[in-house]
This record gives sequence, C-alpha cells and structure tokens, in this order.
Amino acid sequence: MPTIDVEAAAYHQAGHAVADLHFGFRANPLALAADAFHCLGHAQRLDGKDYRDANGQVDPQQVGNAVIVWLAGSAAEREYSQAATVHPADWAKATDVLASLGPHQSFPGWQHQAREFVKQNWKAIQMVATDLLENNALDGTELEMIVSIANQEKDARANLIRYRELTGKKQTRQFCSPAEI
Ligand SMILES: [Zn+2]
Repeated sequence: MPTIDVEAAAYHQAGHAVADLHFGFRANPLALAADAFHCLGHAQRLDGKDYRDANGQVDPQQVGNAVIVWLAGSAAEREYSQAATVHPADWAKATDVLASLGPHQSFPGWQHQAREFVKQNWKAIQMVATDLLENNALDGTELEMIVSIANQEKDARANLIRYRELTGKKQTRQFCSPAEI
C-alpha cells in the first residue's frame, strides 16, 4: 500500500501536469520516484522558447499560465490532503517566472488562481493521480488521453486502452473498460 506521502506526491505531480496540458505547455512524462517532489520540466512551451513573443516582448498571458502551472502542484496537494505547504523549488520557479512581469507582483492572487484552477480541473487531476499511483509512471500521451477522458471526449477511454495495448503498457483499474462505469 502506498503511504500517504506517495499519494500526496501523486496529486502534486498531477496538478502540475494537468495545468501544463490545459495551458498548452508540453506534456512531459511523470514518474513517482523516491524524491517525488523534485518537479522538473513543467511550463515548457512547445516551441522551446521562453515567455516572449516574436518581437521580444514578454507575453503576460504566458507568464501567468506558467505561474499557475508551478503553483498547481502544491494547490492540488492542498486540495487532496489539506496540507498548505508550497515546495521551495516550485515557489522559486514561480517567483522567477513572475519576475519577468516586473516588481510588486501579488503572490496571494496567483495562489488563489492556482487553487481555483485545481478545483475546476479536479476530476482530471484525480484521474491522473489515481493512474500514477497504480502504474508509477505515465507518458505524455497517456496524460493527454486521461485529460480527454476527464473532458468526456468521444472514444477517449477506448483510445487510451488501445494505446496501452499497442505500447505494452499496463491497463489501470479505472480505465480497463471502454464504457463509463
Ligand atoms: Zn512541484
């Protein structure tokens, strides 16, 4: 049986990953490792660039989205376990990104937005965390497919089952049948 820390870590990772997908950042694989709060590779743009547009101007929308991605891990953990900690490395990343908008940024406002994001996307976060706890790792395609299932897209479950069959990955209890249970 997983300990409560592993479960909290799964929700934490799921919060980052669902936010990545929601805001159009890269879907990097997740793994439940011993150092489960060592969060890497989130809020990365698909084109590999930073948060500037073609003219070198900072895009405030992109920056805001990235801040929410970095705060969504701890926000998901908080929603799951009521623990109100923000991991220092995530905080540092969020602060770093936010600094590109200039001084005097309101962190409580961003934390509030991250919590709202987590509440609105809780079904997807729960599904990702549950699968991560069962299989210990999810690739980017599985993540995208699970979010599609949460969004009730047509054939999403069947697509995930087929993808796992074709790639030799383990099916999970919550998605082993193509029909809604
Ligand atoms: Zn994190």
